[in-house]
Amino acid sequence: MAVALTESETKKAVEAFTALGVCEELATAAAALGWKGPSEIQSQSIPQALEGKDVIGLAQTGSGKTGAFALPILQELLDRPQAFFALVLSPTRELAIQISEQFEALGAGIGVKCAVLVGGIDMMAQSISLGKRPHVIVGTPGRVVDHLTNTRGFGLKQLQVLCLDEADRLLNLDFEQEIDQILKVVPRDRRTQLFSATMTSKVAKLQRACLKNPVKVEVSAKYSTVDSLKQNYLFVPAKHKDCYVNYLFNELSASTTMVFTRTCDQTRKLALVARNLGFGAIPIHGQMSQPKRLGALNKFKAGERNILVATDVASRGLDIPAVDVVINYDVPQNSKDYVHRVGRTARAGRSGLAVTLVTQYDVELYQKIERLIGKRLEAYPAPEEAVLLMNERVNEAQRIAQQQMREADAKGGGGGKKRNREGEGDEDDQGLMTIMGRGRGGGRGGGRGGGKGGGRGRR
Ligand code: AMP
Repeated sequence: MAVALTESETKKAVEAFTALGVCEELATAAAALGWKGPSEIQSQSIPQALEGKDVIGLAQTGSGKTGAFALPILQELLDRPQAFFALVLSPTRELAIQISEQFEALGAGIGVKCAVLVGGIDMMAQSISLGKRPHVIVGTPGRVVDHLTNTRGFGLKQLQVLCLDEADRLLNLDFEQEIDQILKVVPRDRRTQLFSATMTSKVAKLQRACLKNPVKVEVSAKYSTVDSLKQNYLFVPAKHKDCYVNYLFNELSASTTMVFTRTCDQTRKLALVARNLGFGAIPIHGQMSQPKRLGALNKFKAGERNILVATDVASRGLDIPAVDVVINYDVPQNSKDYVHRVGRTARAGRSGLAVTLVTQYDVELYQKIERLIGKRLEAYPAPEEAVLLMNERVNEAQRIAQQQMREADAKGGGGGKKRNREGEGDEDDQGLMTIMGRGRGGGRGGGRGGGKGGGRGRR
């Protein structure tokens, strides 16, 4: 939620944005979102974009990069209003939705119309929104290509600005072919902006293919993590991993926490185990249906749940304000993902904590991360005897979780994995019911008779 600025803060913010060349109307809209002044990536890239230059921005989620490309696009649109003015390509559905929300928030006063083209949502409804001739289209490459091929009357011949957001991610997700297809149908004479957290060789190739004499702006040193982030590792025997992670949930129960796992099934299971122990955990991963994913995210954002268990699909792009803690339940396979994951906390000068669980099998992978970030991390204090006090209850919670997953799979009626994953939300509710039925034993999971386990009364 945006915090309203005082009158003098608003005045200052408007002045700071207009000093970059942003018009008063849009500067006021930015201030109305609680932005006290441009972020670094905005200061560096907005003037360049407003001069009509192609921009390549190396910046991570949380840096304000959406505003860095949205404000110039909206301003150009004000000067030359037309349908299908800009196309923003994003790697994930959630990010696309958030980008369009930011366009709409910044452009509310100028009546900007956006369409979101993402998979998992009815093509027909999207075709209808394209029929309304929106100014800005935000979408995932696959679905944009689908519409270019199948939706009559939709084309990008008039496009003025193309923006590729999280280009490294777009390419990692194998969207190269779709991006090529899109590049073939957009005018050569356009402005292009490319944002990426990291400069990989694939991104460099894409940059050469679609940008003209770009101005490069970079806001943080390569792969650096911010100083306000406290980073720890926790060495755990693989067989007691769940016990350790739930010990952390208990220790950090007054915090909002994001936990990263490697697979969808792991995400489901860990969320259930934590729920069975009485923690407010909710899963989100790429194989849940779109409404379920957004529902989970909203519950987390609203504070109904304080632990979000996610795969890397959710690790980038999601606009989740104020995460206090990031736990890497699994060490990320790709070290750069570590930086993206922990970038969920310690934003905008706030402090944050990241704890990475390292088992005997992950040592090499973990050392790669330390090399990448150029830091040796300290161990998180977790006395084994205190942790293992929870062992029995964790085992029981795991057993119940397995049963719940089997039941959810069976409910899928042999329809295979898909149905089962759709049952995610049901599993979520079921988890709480089960433990409640078992009385106090599992409640708040703490090995200390409830101890800190208040969890801010989250259910
Ligand atoms: P992004 O990096 O675009 O994903 O933005 C991350 C968050 O920062 C979003 O919640 C934005 O609303 C917020 N934000 C963007 N620009 C600013 C700014 N200049 N000042 C404060 N917050 C901002």
